Amino acid sequence: MKKFFVAIIAVIIMTTAVVLAAPPKYDTPYIGNSYRKTFHKRDCPSVIQMNHENQVPFRSVDEALNAGYSPCGNCKPWTPPRRS
Ligand SMILES: [Zn+2]
Repeated sequence: MKKFFVAIIAVIIMTTAVVLAAPPKYDTPYIGNSYRKTFHKRDCPSVIQMNHENQVPFRSVDEALNAGYSPCGNCKPWTPPRRS
């Protein structure tokens, strides 16, 4: 029975975290994560979950790449050009 209550509390905490998740701090098309050194399209779910302190604004893919950031594998803001 105790486990049941722990599960309920966990669900409440997770729900609260989702509600508190704020839109990106910057209105640039791309948002970087200074902790993970990755960058995302601003509508990527990872951006919404990202701590505001870790957000870095990028106006272009080039700007992010030049700063040493890697593209997110989920929203794929950039893919390397294919060699033919
Ligand atoms: Zn992403």
